[in-house]
Amino acid sequence: GYRKGGYHAARPGDRFAGGRFVAQRKLGWGNFSTVWLAYDTLLSRFVALKIQKSARDYAQAALHEIELLSAIAKGDPTNSKSVVQLLDHFKHAGPNGLHVCLVTEFLGDSLLRLIRYNRNKGIGLNRVKEISRSVLVGLDYLHSELGIIHTDLKPENVLLVSTINPSKDPVRSGFTPILERAEGNQYSGTVISFSEKMLRMRARHAVAKISQRRVSLGGLVAEMEERSLDGISLKCKIVDFGNACWASPQLAGDIQTRPYRAPEVIVGSGYSYSADMWSFACMAFELATGDLLFDPRTCQGCSEDEDHLALMMETLGKMPKKIASSGTRSKDYFDRHGDLKRIRRLKFFPLERVLIERYNFTEHDAHGIAGFLRPILDFTPENRPTAAECLKHPWLN
Ligand code: ATP
Ligand code: MG
Ligand code: MG
Repeated sequence: GYRKGGYHAARPGDRFAGGRFVAQRKLGWGNFSTVWLAYDTLLSRFVALKIQKSARDYAQAALHEIELLSAIAKGDPTNSKSVVQLLDHFKHAGPNGLHVCLVTEFLGDSLLRLIRYNRNKGIGLNRVKEISRSVLVGLDYLHSELGIIHTDLKPENVLLVSTINPSKDPVRSGFTPILERAEGNQYSGTVISFSEKMLRMRARHAVAKISQRRVSLGGLVAEMEERSLDGISLKCKIVDFGNACWASPQLAGDIQTRPYRAPEVIVGSGYSYSADMWSFACMAFELATGDLLFDPRTCQGCSEDEDHLALMMETLGKMPKKIASSGTRSKDYFDRHGDLKRIRRLKFFPLERVLIERYNFTEHDAHGIAGFLRPILDFTPENRPTAAECLKHPWLN
C-alpha cells in the first residue's frame, strides 16, 4: 500500500524530474507500481510514468526493467517492433522513500479491458488475427534479436495503441494538460480509473455520459461505447518487463501468471522462449472466445497444478512421458506410466470441438483457429513454432 517502502501517492499536477513531468491521471497499477499519465513539458507530449514502490527489492526490479527496456529501445530506433518504448528514467524522493520511475510512451487500454468490453464474447476473428500479428512481431523481436524471454505474457500486459493521440491531436482529443495542482484537491491516488467506473456503470445498465476530455484519456472507452473500433488501429505493444529475463540454458523456477503458465514450468523442467509462445496461444484463445483456455482450481485432494495438467491433457491429449517425467516436480504429479496420480478419469475434449461445441464457431473457423494454435500448444517445448514461424502461418495471412 501507500506506506514506507510502498507506493508513492501522487496527485494530478504533481511534478517529477525537476518539474519536467506533470502527473495527470492514474492509468493503472500492479504489484510493483502505480502508472500515471503524465505531461512532458519539455517535449509537449503525454507519456506514461511508472512510479515503483520504494523498498529495495522493488527498486532493484525497476533497475532490471530499465536495463531490459534500454536494450529494447536501442535495438528498435524506429519504435516499430510492438514493444513499449522507454523514454527516460529517474529517481523521485517522496514521503514513502526513494522511487525509481520509468517514463514510457503513452499507450491505450489493455487487451484485458478489450476482452471485458466485449462482455466475454470474444472480439471477432479479424481482430484476433490483427492483434496476434502485432504481438508476434514483438515476441520475435524479443526472442530472436535480443534474447529476452518476457515470462508474463497475458492480456493485462499487452496494451492497444490508440490512434487518437492527445499530444498530436489536441483538438480531436479535446484535452489540455493539467499543469498546476488544483486547490483543495484531496486526490490520494486510490481513485478507480475511468474505465473501471465505466464497467461498473455498464453492469448496472446505466447510460453514461462521456465527456470529451475523458474520451482522450480512456483511449478505448468512447469507441467501445459506440460499439465501433474507429480510431483504434488494433496494433498493440507488449509492456511490463519487470519479470523478463535474458535467456540462458538452465533457467528454472516459477514464472508466468497461472492460466498462461506452460507445462514445463509446472513440472519444473526449465524453460525458454517457447514458454512465451505457450502464453501467447492461451491469450489468442481468450481473445477469440472471451474465456480462459485453462482455468485451474484446487479440487478435493488435488492441487491447482494437478488440475491444470489435467485440463491441458483433456484438451491436448496425453503429455508425452518424456516431458511428464522430466521435471523436479514430476514425481509429485505423475506415476511411472506418465498418468496423473490423483486425477484418474480424464474427459478428452479436443480444442477444435471445444470451439465448435462450447463457443459456437463454424467448423471452418474452428478448424482455422485450432490449426494455428494447436502446434503452439505442443507439450514438447522444442516442437513449438517460433514467433517468426507463426507469423508465416496461413491463418494470419
Ligand atoms: P505487475 O504487478 O503486473 O508486475 P507492474 O507494477 O509491473 O505490474 P505494469 O504492468 O507495468 O506495472 O503497469 C500496470 C498497469 O498500468 C498496466 O496493466 C496498464 O494498465 C497501465 N500501463 C502501464 N504502462 C502503460 C503505458 N505505457 N500506457 C498506458 N498505460 C500503461
Ligand atoms: Mg503488469
Ligand atoms: Mg511488473
